[in-house]
Amino acid sequence: MSHVFYRNPYKKYPVVARGKGVYLYDRQGKRYLDGCGGAVVSAIGHHVPEVVEAIKAQLDSVEFAHTSQFTNDPQEELAELLAERAPGGLDFTYFVSGGSEAVESALKMARAYWVQMGRPEKWMVIGREQSYHGNTLGALAVGGNLWRRAIYEPMLYPRPRVAPCYCYRCPFGRHPESCSLECADDLERAIQEVGPEKVSAFIAEPIVGATAGALTPPAGYFQRIREICDRHDVLFIADEVMTGLGRTGAWFAMKHWGVVPDLMCLAKGLAAGYVPVGATMVHHRINDTFHNRRNVFQHGHTYMGHPLAAAAGVAVIRYMSEHKLVDRSRKLGKYLREQLQAACGDHPHVGEIRGRGLFVGMEFVKDRESRTPFEPETGFHNLVGDAAFELGLILYPTGGTIDGRRGDHVLIAPPFIITRSQIDRLVEILGRALERAT
Ligand code: PLP
Repeated sequence: MSHVFYRNPYKKYPVVARGKGVYLYDRQGKRYLDGCGGAVVSAIGHHVPEVVEAIKAQLDSVEFAHTSQFTNDPQEELAELLAERAPGGLDFTYFVSGGSEAVESALKMARAYWVQMGRPEKWMVIGREQSYHGNTLGALAVGGNLWRRAIYEPMLYPRPRVAPCYCYRCPFGRHPESCSLECADDLERAIQEVGPEKVSAFIAEPIVGATAGALTPPAGYFQRIREICDRHDVLFIADEVMTGLGRTGAWFAMKHWGVVPDLMCLAKGLAAGYVPVGATMVHHRINDTFHNRRNVFQHGHTYMGHPLAAAAGVAVIRYMSEHKLVDRSRKLGKYLREQLQAACGDHPHVGEIRGRGLFVGMEFVKDRESRTPFEPETGFHNLVGDAAFELGLILYPTGGTIDGRRGDHVLIAPPFIITRSQIDRLVEILGRALERAT
């Protein structure tokens, strides 16, 4: 009998034995093509010797020293590498152990900033419908993933949520030609509703992942968001936990639109799964506020700035830079979308294929013409995901919410080292999985 408290006690999990490149192998020797990096984590593939060696080398010098007592070389170097690549002004990094911690830190840092600015009434962070920022209570409170929130709702402070930019199902009934960015203006409505004096920040994923299958914003969306935030003294937190570190074909997705957030959350691709890590990047304006007033940020986690995690992060960024993997994500992402479109684009249950770089989503519908979603009980995304898994392809099935109900998507986000022929194979298996699920 296993003593593990599993995510799903009714599921039989194969035991993973090893990984190499884009493949994982279970104890029975079955090979799986990792089509989603687990949960958009494994960005450079499995068992890259340079990263493994860097972690081992760090282990040979020091494994841990608490950040209230020491800094460490890899943490310093990783912060520098990130500052060189981030949107201009995000010069400082606060290291934590994962995405939810990065979001919690950002929510609290926004609050701490306004307190120092003499505006202690500013505390509320507004998020969007159809969003996910993590499972801890603070992160859950600002997210719009209804099924993840459901039973914890009484523990989450109520606040307005803003419309998603979901062009396939535009909440304002617009088409791309008639779009006037009402979804962005909805932030203005929400800020006015509670009063700008209470709002500390707005948080959004640049391209929505876990709730919506790679929802990309319409042109001009984030520029408008930035303007609205500035007009009301509201900080903008970009949650790049999924999209950061090359996933969308730029080091950070916000660079696609030339918009600089005040705080930016990272995790997943940062150490690409070699060691758990997360980070909140901080604009120098906010950093200076703490420094000039000789204040400390009242927060902290035991494992922040962990030397092994930072060493892994440094090695991952160096590897990505040497092998030009961000560029590769952009080019192969385009190829992946084209191949998926050609193979599955006309399938009666494929509503839309979307995304940017190697961050691709497929939305499933019961009826293509009317874009009617499946009944939630069908769990079509899981049917596709399970069929693919059986066939040796790992996808990331994600259930969103459409009109308050769960929607059906899968995320396809393979390691950036994937080759064209491996993409062809991925598309071929996905097609078969789709047939099996139908
Ligand atoms: N933010 C976003 C955008 C995410 O996609 C996730 C996880 O999927 C998180 C935050 C939470 O990260 P973690 O699971 O590492 O706590």
